[in-house]
Amino acid sequence: MDGNNVLLEDRWHRKILNAYWIVMLMFLLAQAVFLLSGGAHPGGAGKGAGFWLRWAGSNGLTVLLLVMTETWLRCWPKHHKKAIAACGFLISYMFYFITQPTADGSQTALLLPVVISVVYFDRKMLFSFGVFTILTYIPIYFLIERPLYQKPIEEFIQVESVFVVSLLIGSTILIRVKEFAGYLKTVMKSEQQLLVEKTISDKLLKMDALTGLYNHKTFHEYLDALLQHSEKYHLPLQLAIIDIDGFKKVNDSYGHWVGDLVLKQVAATITSIMMPNDFAARYGGEEFAVIFADKTLAEAEAITEKLRLGISAQEHPNLKGRPVTVSIGLCDYRPGDDKETLFCKADIALYHAKRTGKNKVVTASDAILADSPEGKVASI
Ligand code: GH3
Ligand code: MG
Ligand code: MG
Repeated sequence: MDGNNVLLEDRWHRKILNAYWIVMLMFLLAQAVFLLSGGAHPGGAGKGAGFWLRWAGSNGLTVLLLVMTETWLRCWPKHHKKAIAACGFLISYMFYFITQPTADGSQTALLLPVVISVVYFDRKMLFSFGVFTILTYIPIYFLIERPLYQKPIEEFIQVESVFVVSLLIGSTILIRVKEFAGYLKTVMKSEQQLLVEKTISDKLLKMDALTGLYNHKTFHEYLDALLQHSEKYHLPLQLAIIDIDGFKKVNDSYGHWVGDLVLKQVAATITSIMMPNDFAARYGGEEFAVIFADKTLAEAEAITEKLRLGISAQEHPNLKGRPVTVSIGLCDYRPGDDKETLFCKADIALYHAKRTGKNKVVTASDAILADSPEGKVASI
């Protein structure tokens, strides 16, 4: 049984015991009304000392039983269900003997354990108590009710029928409950399955299947949100576009599958240099984009340079020792830059890196400075 079920069952122990107390109080009240209205106790021969002694004894015993069960529930951490069931069983027989078997319908008190078993959804308990009640009523009837109170045999048959029907109804309820619990379990399982599948498909929609990095679409969504954030709070942001050098040649010389392996390896290296606030995506083909947050341009440049060196130092057995290099265009966000401006600056830097020999990191300001005939441009 798991923790939730234990907690649930604890609540039911308490509720059933409360119900016992309420029944006891109602029972005492009924007896008080009966006695005050001058009625003789059923089966009692007047109200002599013996009657009062028996009356106080049986009621006192029932209350004592309830107090003992109450103490058990509060002080003993184990076997609460057994205590409640045993208490219900004893109470039902005490009620029966307090009301005295002469009273009409007093036998219904004997059904209490069957009802408790149904509340606990316990089939074993239900059958034990049900069969016990059916069998026990035989000697009760033939040794007490028939010889002492002359109850007719029809009443015996009626009462036994009620017991049998109660047992059958109780067991039918438990079968239905079991079926329903099974149904609930399958519904819960399929809901769980759906949730898992939705999480996976959500992830697949956002990720690039080959490299495991975010895809182009997610990258743009994230950059839109981040640009708004940077604009609002004047936060630093850099964009780097990383392009593998001569990648077409890799595909042409060693096969497309080797190209795929190279893409995966480059992506893994990019992931390894990233910090929690950075964001990397496969921008398309053999191009990757990284957004750096919380950094200065110099810090972002140092990281991209480390990345470039890391990629060029890697060994690729499938390329027969030939290294893989990347060119990186890096730009800094300036307040007022929109997404297009930012990409345009990064592209200018990347183009400059490619044009001036590849395998290098170039910042947008360096590229524009170098390309400007006067050697100076407006700051970008
Ligand atoms: P440069 O140094 O100027 O960047 O040259 P390049 O060869 O890297 O660039 P180019 O744009 O000429 O070629 C890119 C190649 O990348 C062409 C395309 O077949 C290949 N490519 C794009 N996506 C994939 C992919 O998912 N897997 C593989 N294996 N190749 C891809
Ligand atoms: Mg390219
Ligand atoms: Mg390329």
